[in-house]
Amino acid sequence: MKKLLKLLTISIILFCPKMKKENSEEYYTKLRERMVKEQIEARGIKDQRILKAMREVKRHLFVPEAFREESYNDYPLPIGEGQTISQPFIVALMTYLLEPETSDKVLEIGTGSGYQAAVLSLLVKEVYTIEIIEKLAKEAEKRLKELGYHNIKVKWGDGFEGWQEYAPFDKIIITCALPYIPKPLKEQLKEGGKIVAPMEKDGIQVLSLFTKEKGELIEKVCDYVRFVPMRGRIEVEPEEK
Ligand code: SAH
Repeated sequence: MKKLLKLLTISIILFCPKMKKENSEEYYTKLRERMVKEQIEARGIKDQRILKAMREVKRHLFVPEAFREESYNDYPLPIGEGQTISQPFIVALMTYLLEPETSDKVLEIGTGSGYQAAVLSLLVKEVYTIEIIEKLAKEAEKRLKELGYHNIKVKWGDGFEGWQEYAPFDKIIITCALPYIPKPLKEQLKEGGKIVAPMEKDGIQVLSLFTKEKGELIEKVCDYVRFVPMRGRIEVEPEEK
């Protein structure tokens, strides 16, 4: 009986390709290579450091199990609580626009799954990331710790306020759409620093790159995008004060 069971298990593993596929890191490495080549490199992002980081981070471990098979596809995916993990190309593009340097201290608003933070953490010195939904913040913190990302700090809170304790930051990345850059974020950015953010105006979203020059933010619009909206204090203060 025992022998029969063993034989049955072996044949299931051997003859069920889906099971084999899902359990194999090699399989996901191949999908990741293809994602970088076809979705990122082919669209003009050639920075070798960024491509290497995107090849390294195991995106399938940042999405709910039901979506693992789709995790390297060319679109965003649900991560629970009505939120999404961005399309791989958008993660690469925002990272590229930030021009990450190994000495940088970066603040992220909108931790979500923690994927963008993980990619950045391989390119900069430290990443500080804030998430407004407690469940997502706690899950991302646990995931990042388990995967060995030691230069990322996660905080559950409203990103509107920034993270004064660790300011000033060289760069800020905002991964939820907002009508203007909140004052605390502008103040916590170093002179000469950059902010990448999806800006929402009259229902249209654009990806903007800001540079802080003489204390003011100079905006350059880069692309059209689709992000979930920023929540919290920005909803009661939709206009700049
Ligand atoms: N960067 C994420 C995807 C972000 S989705 C990733 O790599 O997976 C946008 C996230 O912003 C959502 O998780 C949402 O809950 C969060 N968010 C919305 N408003 C916020 C706020 N005021 N402060 C911090 N996070 C916020």
